[in-house]
Amino acid sequence: MNTGATRPYEGGCACRHVRYRMTTKPLFVHCCHCRWCQRETGSAFALNALIEPEHVELLQGEVEVVDTPSYSGEGQKISRCPKCRIAVWSNYAGAGDAIRFVRVGTLDEPDRLPPDIHIYTASKQPWVILPTDTPAVAEYYRAADHWSPESLQRRAALYANRSR
Ligand SMILES: [Zn+2]
Ligand SMILES: [Zn+2]
Repeated sequence: MNTGATRPYEGGCACRHVRYRMTTKPLFVHCCHCRWCQRETGSAFALNALIEPEHVELLQGEVEVVDTPSYSGEGQKISRCPKCRIAVWSNYAGAGDAIRFVRVGTLDEPDRLPPDIHIYTASKQPWVILPTDTPAVAEYYRAADHWSPESLQRRAALYANRSR
């Protein structure tokens, strides 16, 4: 399903073995400043586009799923290119397989998906200056407080389908 006139978002790993396409715009985009994301990326934060797995098409190659410890202690599954090992998306234990966290930096046009929220800013690197017009929270947040009605509806449909 392609909602509206949005052109697809394509991306992939560094060696181009893995290529994927998001067929609709994501539910929400997190910029996470937690220590775990800092360590995983080797950088100051992670940028993740949250989307239903059925809206992510693997165009080429395959991913290797790596079990990785996570902040919650419940672990996460990081999908990586089996050749160059770049991570293209992950699934956290909390949301299970329902919601995929696509790494925005692996998109061909990452500029199209700026963060909708900054999370875990309590551990933000002090030199990162956040824009004043984007919500920012010290830790996590409730989707109902920040997601668009359309995204909340898509999320509700997702969980309804899963419990069937
Ligand atoms: Zn690769
Ligand atoms: Zn994080």
